[in-house]
Amino acid sequence: MSSVRVSPIWCLALVAFAGCHRDAPTELGPETAAVEPAPPPAPTAAPSRITPAMVAVADAIEGDDVRAVVAEIADDRYMGRSPGSPGDKMTRAYLEKELAKRGYEPGGEGGSWEQPVELVGVTAAAPARWTFARGANRVALERDTDFVASSGVQAPRASVDGAEVVFVGYGIEAPEYDWDDFKGVDVSGKVLLMLNNDPDWDPALFAGSERLFYGRWVYKYESAGRHGAAAAIIIHTTPSAGYPWHTVQASWGGAQFKLPAGGEPHAQIEAWITEDAARRVLGPDVSLDTLVEQAKRRDFKPVPLGITTSIALRNTIAHTQSANVLGILRGSDPDLADELVIFSAHHDHLGVGAPNPNGKPNDRIYNGARDNAAGVGTVLAIGKAIAALPERPRRSVLLMFPAAEEQGLLGSEYFAKHPTVAPGKIAADVNYDAPNIWGATRDITFIGLGKSPSLDAVATEVAAYQHRVLKADQFPERGSYYRSDQFNFAKIGVPAFYLNGGTDFPDKPAGWGVEQLDAYIERDYHQPSDELTDEWRFDGIVQDAQFGFYAGIIVANESKLPVWSDRNEFAATRRAALAAAGTDSRADSPAH
Ligand SMILES: [Zn+2]
Repeated sequence: MSSVRVSPIWCLALVAFAGCHRDAPTELGPETAAVEPAPPPAPTAAPSRITPAMVAVADAIEGDDVRAVVAEIADDRYMGRSPGSPGDKMTRAYLEKELAKRGYEPGGEGGSWEQPVELVGVTAAAPARWTFARGANRVALERDTDFVASSGVQAPRASVDGAEVVFVGYGIEAPEYDWDDFKGVDVSGKVLLMLNNDPDWDPALFAGSERLFYGRWVYKYESAGRHGAAAAIIIHTTPSAGYPWHTVQASWGGAQFKLPAGGEPHAQIEAWITEDAARRVLGPDVSLDTLVEQAKRRDFKPVPLGITTSIALRNTIAHTQSANVLGILRGSDPDLADELVIFSAHHDHLGVGAPNPNGKPNDRIYNGARDNAAGVGTVLAIGKAIAALPERPRRSVLLMFPAAEEQGLLGSEYFAKHPTVAPGKIAADVNYDAPNIWGATRDITFIGLGKSPSLDAVATEVAAYQHRVLKADQFPERGSYYRSDQFNFAKIGVPAFYLNGGTDFPDKPAGWGVEQLDAYIERDYHQPSDELTDEWRFDGIVQDAQFGFYAGIIVANESKLPVWSDRNEFAATRRAALAAAGTDSRADSPAH
């Protein structure tokens, strides 16, 4: 985590930790112990921004409150909450009722609870086989086993006809890293074969093992579209994706939703193939390993493979509508009440689909209990605590439940393009997605730590108050910062907390926490088995809800507006947004 930046308070804590270890000067020779100089006076701690009133309502946050929400919207009756489905409508109605019950007002345009989000559902019928030819040699791939293909266009038909396959390495253009996989080569009309992830071997290059947006499938397909490619094929390996092939099968089966096309270019076909299938397509004369080594070089150039292919998808287009659900609690300070702190958790999931071959036969409902009914429950519980404060926060608080997150962060993308207040008036977002269901922890993961010194300082203060170790993303290679709704807030310059629980469980052996997470990804992530069970523990969820509550309220009461570190990819957008909103005079100026 080379990009991690820590605030001064955090440094203090570090010294304390290390200190107690370093306090054993005996290692330096016992006889000097007698004349130890008096310890320096304890530094005067900044007055805590966590007030007794905040503690009182935070302590009233209950696991049963969150459980009740999960038990409701993750129930089979909601049919996996697919966008635009009856279950989606039931979920939105339930959320609006819960928001009103907790003292919130409609937060959408014109006094509505909802911000409608138009969606185009494209269900692509791919052929059972996809053939690649080099001269007389033909290799046929099997649908689902070897490849999944979806349509990049919102039209009844998507096709590629006799196009050449070109290997483009990672398919990345990143001037800030002096990296360009295309080198000006015209690949329009070609089929691009791409590696997943971004270069991960050098901390100075693409932040080393941390996956940046460049390493996300979304970026790869957008990159292929920008180059006028006919198709884009990402080679799947579990390490480079961060999840197994059956997650790809599950996530790309069925309807793919998008916001109505707005003119951004897309390839006709957006596909994945397995590593084994890629090796078969390349044939005995071309080594995938050699291509991968080439791709790692800064002087890499696209490699025409002398292979051609054709494929056509018959698309069923369905127009549907979902909605972001918004509830607002007006702030108490007339100067700041038109500014927001947003707490967000997406309300959708994957709906009904194929049973997991390794799971319960015939279980076709993707309940999405941890992902993300538990996040929704967490935000509602925080909302209840905020409304119970004797004095309202100075800024207004918006509880936001984005739609269609699983389809590519679509609801928050729509909000980011149609925000209810100017981005320069949004202080921060606190996002929850797939909270910790395994119990209280001694640490907490702040995905995004190091990107905003303003938020780092707040998180450090709250972690110290909770006597927890604040950690940055513990699986940076998964690129989680770009995989949930906070990313769309960041794109319009809004600094965001993505709080994701801890892995250090006091009553469990070391490594147990990581084992639970890995087992969840292997067995339940985006599977029908992501359900509420008796094994769930809610004390970790409550701990993390309290963390977000404290952090959000501290930001809501601060006159200063949080900013990013100077070199951060979103810093310039923030500066422009604050200037546009006339709030730049109150931009935070933390010690960088
Ligand atoms: Zn999620």
